[in-house]
Amino acid sequence: MTVAAVAFDLDYTLAVPTRSRSTLLSEATAAVGAPPLSREDYLDAHADNLTRRTRAPIFERLLDGREADVEAATLAAAYRERVNDALEPVPGVESMLADLRERYRLGLLTNGPVVAQRSKLRELGWEDAFDVALVTGDLRSGKPDAAAFEALLDALGAKPEETAFVGDDADADVAGASDAGLRAIQVRFPDGPDPDPKAAAQVDRERMAAELPAILETL
Ligand SMILES: [Mg+2]
Repeated sequence: MTVAAVAFDLDYTLAVPTRSRSTLLSEATAAVGAPPLSREDYLDAHADNLTRRTRAPIFERLLDGREADVEAATLAAAYRERVNDALEPVPGVESMLADLRERYRLGLLTNGPVVAQRSKLRELGWEDAFDVALVTGDLRSGKPDAAAFEALLDALGAKPEETAFVGDDADADVAGASDAGLRAIQVRFPDGPDPDPKAAAQVDRERMAAELPAILETL
């Protein structure tokens, strides 16, 4: 069966921050007088808060028990501002998305709180770049849960076996999509995850705009 729909992860797949997230987190905590927080602790808290409206519950957990004279919501806003300012599209992906949309139903499924992820799309000017753009903060569960991919397929009006999902995260994107019956395409970059056997294809992020359209035709 040929591919009828193509959907993407957002962070580190279509858009990448110009500075590391650890640096942005350090800058945000320093700016609002919060104690230093580790990126690892942040990622753990984020993973447990994929269906939230904002990042405030993530920071509430990270600040819990710490000496901090700052509201979680204030820190969340400071971090959001820095993340959004640093976010840049992967070269060539905007015209790639426009071209793909002429041939396929085009979707996005991104893990994270609603306000954080929608503000990234707004900052990138991508609010209308997809036929369907789902943020797990609006859903009952996040990737890799099959329910998140089922919500995507429902919204796209596509069957899993005719849908390709393009993402960088081995667990959330590659395993999640392939376990839900979609064709996973793993986006690779230097120092990123190893090639994953569950992926139907691999693509280097810096060559994605040029190479993905042809890869989709081979699936
Ligand atoms: Mg990602």
